[in-house]
Amino acid sequence: MVIVLKQKPDENKVEELMKRLRGMGLDIHQSRGQNSTILGLVGDTSAVDIDALSALEIVETVKRIQEPYKNANRKFHPADTVIEVGSVKLGGGNFAVIAGPCSVESHEQLCAVAADVKAAGAAMLRGGAFKPRTSPYAFQGLRGEGIKLLLEAKKETGLPIVTEIMDLSQLYLFDEVDVIQVGARNMQNFEMLKELGRLHKPILLKRGLSSTLQELLMSAEYIMAGGNQQVILCERGIRTFETATRNTLDLSAIPALRAMTHLPIIVDPSHATGHASMVKPMAVAAAAAGADGLMIEVHNDPANALCDGQQSLTPGQFADTMQAVQAVLPFACR
Ligand code: PEP
Ligand code: MN
Repeated sequence: MVIVLKQKPDENKVEELMKRLRGMGLDIHQSRGQNSTILGLVGDTSAVDIDALSALEIVETVKRIQEPYKNANRKFHPADTVIEVGSVKLGGGNFAVIAGPCSVESHEQLCAVAADVKAAGAAMLRGGAFKPRTSPYAFQGLRGEGIKLLLEAKKETGLPIVTEIMDLSQLYLFDEVDVIQVGARNMQNFEMLKELGRLHKPILLKRGLSSTLQELLMSAEYIMAGGNQQVILCERGIRTFETATRNTLDLSAIPALRAMTHLPIIVDPSHATGHASMVKPMAVAAAAAGADGLMIEVHNDPANALCDGQQSLTPGQFADTMQAVQAVLPFACR
């Protein structure tokens, strides 16, 4: 971090500032020119408050040179993180697909879809028990009952389960859930992220609707700062001016994040596009671009799905998509 001081600053205040910064364990390199003084801070500046520094009378500007995320930063952890869920590995060259319905509807629906996605090569089962719906009148999910059904499907198929938490008050229901999903709308629910940081299980963190990649990594940092290093990042499309798709899939997030972080990166082409017909091409594109995995919505009867039927693949379409994805994996950019 570099602090540029105003011309002819009050020397007492400069001394005071340097003392404060040294007190934070930082080394200071001073460079005094004719017109300006520059303080270069060396050390871990992640806890330094730029706004507080900028507000000081003697400070002209403050510039961060190092990224504000440390645990998630590839610079401090060059090797890819591999997340293990039972016998499934994700990241570091291990590709895995999570598939299942948008929401858990019944034992029959979930177990039928689970068996089909497993047969097609899915490594984990998804299904929403708590659903973040735009309308309060839309189906809100089976809640605790939905988690019970997911555990039954896990028992039947052996697939680890991934499901979304919407509020910390639900956490007690997630003891046997293999991967806890934090949805796009909760990406910056910092109190929840802190609490999930105390757990010893993988967290699937979806990118917020209008969040930058740095903001996504700062949210991962909240979880990791608490001690939980098992974070899977998920690109699921962002809000743009385009209306032909539900969101705009930011495929460049894959190579961009790859350079910024060691955490595994998966792509959700279902919520990104909002149309079943667009899921296969975007799944293949994401795999080719180097994603570590995919999350795809599959329903045995999309026309009658209680949530997101228009973007759900039939089991047959999912099997076809899996084949296309497998075919491109040997040529993926990594
Ligand atoms: C989901 O995966 O069920 C979901 C609600 O996704 P998102 O948070 O990306 O909208
Ligand atoms: Mn959905």
